[in-house]
Amino acid sequence: MDIRVDRVLTALKGLEIKCNVPLSSLTSFRIGGPAAMVLRPHSAEDIRRTIQSCSQFGCPYCVLGNGTNVLAPDAGYPGMVIRLDTPLTTPLFVDTTVTCPAGTSLSVLARESVGMHLMGLETLSGIPGTVGGAVAMNAGAYGSEIRHIIKSVRILKSGRVLDVETKKTDFGDRTSAYSSPSVIVLSATFQLEHDDGGAKERMLETTRQRKEKQPLSLPSAGSVFKRPKGRFAGALIENCGLKGYSVGGAQVSPLHAGFIVNTGKATEKDVLDLIALIQQRVFDETGVRLEREIKLMREL
Ligand SMILES: Cc1cc2nc3c(=O)[nH]c(=O)nc-3n(C[C@H](O)[C@H](O)[C@H](O)COP(=O)(O)OP(=O)(O)OC[C@H]3O[C@@H](n4cnc5c(N)ncnc54)[C@H](O)[C@@H]3O)c2cc1C
Repeated sequence: MDIRVDRVLTALKGLEIKCNVPLSSLTSFRIGGPAAMVLRPHSAEDIRRTIQSCSQFGCPYCVLGNGTNVLAPDAGYPGMVIRLDTPLTTPLFVDTTVTCPAGTSLSVLARESVGMHLMGLETLSGIPGTVGGAVAMNAGAYGSEIRHIIKSVRILKSGRVLDVETKKTDFGDRTSAYSSPSVIVLSATFQLEHDDGGAKERMLETTRQRKEKQPLSLPSAGSVFKRPKGRFAGALIENCGLKGYSVGGAQVSPLHAGFIVNTGKATEKDVLDLIALIQQRVFDETGVRLEREIKLMREL
């Protein structure tokens, strides 16, 4: 065992840490070799201690929610994955606000909000990530984004827990100021509105559209590319004749060309090679540079 891993494990005795966990089981692409260590934290203090020990012993660490926007390396990850995918408390509704832990499923939160006769989250209900991952990515769908409804966040930054009122300018195109490794989202508060009577219908309609238009039966990480201004990545890729095109086990989805699916045995390299090929072909034929939305684990 890597000496750094050994030292971190010794320093963090008592925390819920598993060793040699396949990243394919932690990411929706179902790709990736073993992570040396995976922590399921039970408190902010667990996370703080873990980061401190990893930093002390020179061991890499990263944060994952549901792993639905991440491509993991075939060779695995030599350090600690801090996995924030389990809510430690249930959402707390106060009038038209709701506060929940980072590990809360965004879909569950959206459904509960609709059940509480609140609107604002309903069109995000089909995004398969956690609240922490959605805040980090400024996730959005069907005209709505996290930045439109977020009010404040509790974060861990430089070893301190801070409560921060968010600003619209903290959020960009599938990016935000609240993303690991510099910031870890512990919980988030959303400002919703009283339901106008149509929230449930909008939620059901967006779910129906996703089932019809997205390849939900195969592993993927959602849209691979950010939406270029005034265009759709999927349409550009389709018009270049790449729908259904494969590299190894990675395929441009025949249903939605904005998605790359893992048809069974895709490797990280297959996906990266396919991404590079798509970017080059779309640029050559249209002059549009497609920017990758999905994150590589080595960038986290
Ligand atoms: C079928 C499918 C459909 C999708 N549809 C959409 C869509 O409509 N719109 C959309 O925006 N996205 C979509 N996605 C992508 C993805 O679900 C979102 O980006 C989601 O917000 C990622 O959340 P996650 O918990 O899975 O984060 P992860 O993939 O685990 O992590 C994503 C990034 O967030 C960081 N992060 C995670 N948790 C935290 C935390 N607590 N604090 C700080 N940083 C953190 C990670 O380090 C990483 O950089 C889709 C994905 C799939 C597979």
